[in-house]
Amino acid sequence: MKQNPVVNNSPELQDSIYETKRRLAQRPFPDFISLRQHVSVSFEFFPPTSIELENKLWSCVAQLAPLRPRFVSVTYGAGGSTRQRTHATVEKILAETLLIPAAHVTCVGAPRDEVDEVVRRYWDSGVRHLVALRGDSAYPARPFISHPQGYQTAAQLVAGIRKIADFEVTVAAYPEIHPDAESQEADLDNLKRKLDAGANRAITQYFFNADDFLRFLDRVRAAGISAPIIPGILPVTNFARVVKFSEKCGATIPVWMRDLFAGLDDAPDIRQLIAATVAIEQCRLLLEQGINEFHFYTLNRAELTQAICHALGLREHPEHSLCELNAPGE
Ligand SMILES: Cc1cc2nc3c(=O)[nH]c(=O)nc-3n(C[C@H](O)[C@H](O)[C@H](O)COP(=O)(O)OP(=O)(O)OC[C@H]3O[C@@H](n4cnc5c(N)ncnc54)[C@H](O)[C@@H]3O)c2cc1C
Repeated sequence: MKQNPVVNNSPELQDSIYETKRRLAQRPFPDFISLRQHVSVSFEFFPPTSIELENKLWSCVAQLAPLRPRFVSVTYGAGGSTRQRTHATVEKILAETLLIPAAHVTCVGAPRDEVDEVVRRYWDSGVRHLVALRGDSAYPARPFISHPQGYQTAAQLVAGIRKIADFEVTVAAYPEIHPDAESQEADLDNLKRKLDAGANRAITQYFFNADDFLRFLDRVRAAGISAPIIPGILPVTNFARVVKFSEKCGATIPVWMRDLFAGLDDAPDIRQLIAATVAIEQCRLLLEQGINEFHFYTLNRAELTQAICHALGLREHPEHSLCELNAPGE
């Protein structure tokens, strides 16, 4: 005779089923189609120093443009060393693409008049978005010293820009605290000063633990700051270099990440696959918490950023391709 299976209705089993369902509900499986409508991205490039690097930059720009970023930003070399090249790159983006450029401007090594002149020149050439930064000393490991007649902080620079014209202004924020900051509270006060001076949003320094960003965002909101705070995502191409740079800028390299990249120093292709996995997982963790805007430090390399964006559901818009972008010197 067939026996009825024993039905276990114990409270423990019910609790465990409830717990499993709750976990699944918290971490739904990816729905790429619906993500596609929500994610928005921006890309950071640096100005090239040679014809070869210039070719590399423009092919990177051309490859990423069809993803329709909200804007693309161009950095200002440490110590203010790339003023002309930053300007030329931004103007070329403006003149030859459909992209919206944002020019980085720093306070380093120049009196206010000179910085104001740079800002005015950008406005006159049609640039409407600036990333306002203090910058660092041109000499590694030396503290930042402002020009005697210069802007001393990014907050002062934002106020100066606002007096000149109605730019959209982005500033920097630090989930793991800026190395010069006296305390977490002082760093948050500084971010508030920059936004109160007229900045529209902040982009963060890169970080690798999604939790560091989320906790920072909680602190920012608790401090009454409502401006958008966009996570800066660094797809890691050269792990050894990132470790070195992170020591200076205060970003933590988690143990799990060291483990993932261990033994891959001479295996760039595998490193690239690991790097994509790390960044995709980082973005997905943030997406699950409602973060849907990302800024990518591209380092003028398209593939990784393109792969990550693809995994986030972004698709190319061919009408935004830049086939007609002129080669350097044209
Ligand atoms: C998204 C992003 C883009 C960047 N792009 C560039 C770039 O293109 N070129 C470049 O050279 N660098 C760039 N940097 C690096 C940046 O210049 C450095 O991190 C620099 O050390 C600080 O710049 P800041 O604008 O955050 O400075 P600030 O906001 O002025 O703050 C710097 C530090 O000083 C402290 N501070 C500020 N005001 C006061 C005050 N009144 N009293 C006490 N403490 C104060 C702050 O708490 C903070 O610790 C970028 C950083 C980020 C996150």
